[in-house]
Amino acid sequence: MLNVILLGPPGVGKGTQSSNIARHFELIHISTGELLREEMAQGTPLGLQIQQLMDSGQYVSDDIACGLVRREIDPTRGLVLDGFPRTIPQAETLDQMLAGLGRKLDRVIELRADHPTLIQRMMDRAKTSGRADDTPEIFGERLRTYDAKTAPLIKYYSDKGLLVSIDSLDKIPVVTQRIISVLE
Ligand code: AMP
Repeated sequence: MLNVILLGPPGVGKGTQSSNIARHFELIHISTGELLREEMAQGTPLGLQIQQLMDSGQYVSDDIACGLVRREIDPTRGLVLDGFPRTIPQAETLDQMLAGLGRKLDRVIELRADHPTLIQRMMDRAKTSGRADDTPEIFGERLRTYDAKTAPLIKYYSDKGLLVSIDSLDKIPVVTQRIISVLE
């Protein structure tokens, strides 16, 4: 049962690549960003609480993010995590959650692209995504939040010998194939 994380800055292609990988290996795809957007769309109390944070490029609390993942994990199926963990405490909670199920992480794939490419992809996506946080101003804040809070995970997983970094500048199927080769 494969357990994989796709790590990387906003706009790098985590969502698209996670879907492709989930389909190829028949894994469940857990995107905390998607789950948060569903909560907001339903106007739940949790949804209202997180909207302001998301719309200013900040992260929601570790408790909220971990709670969403705990709810979605299926003990009988492998998983690809997209946009989670985003902080060291989330990574530690994930280790505990998996250990509780007698499982562990197999690989952490870091997707890489330069800032101009990320900004261009965000602007392309903004045309169809309808996401309130796909604007140049908020995107800049999301990149800063990533550098401050999530980039430390690269060392965290590299120290554990789990990290593989992949260039995400090429066309989508080329990048997908690279990830598949690493996981096979
Ligand atoms: P994404 O769709 O992955 O780009 O996530 C969109 C937004 O949701 C992020 O900018 C954060 O505000 C929030 N978010 C998603 N995943 C997490 C997480 N694991 N921890 C904290 N905030 C998150």
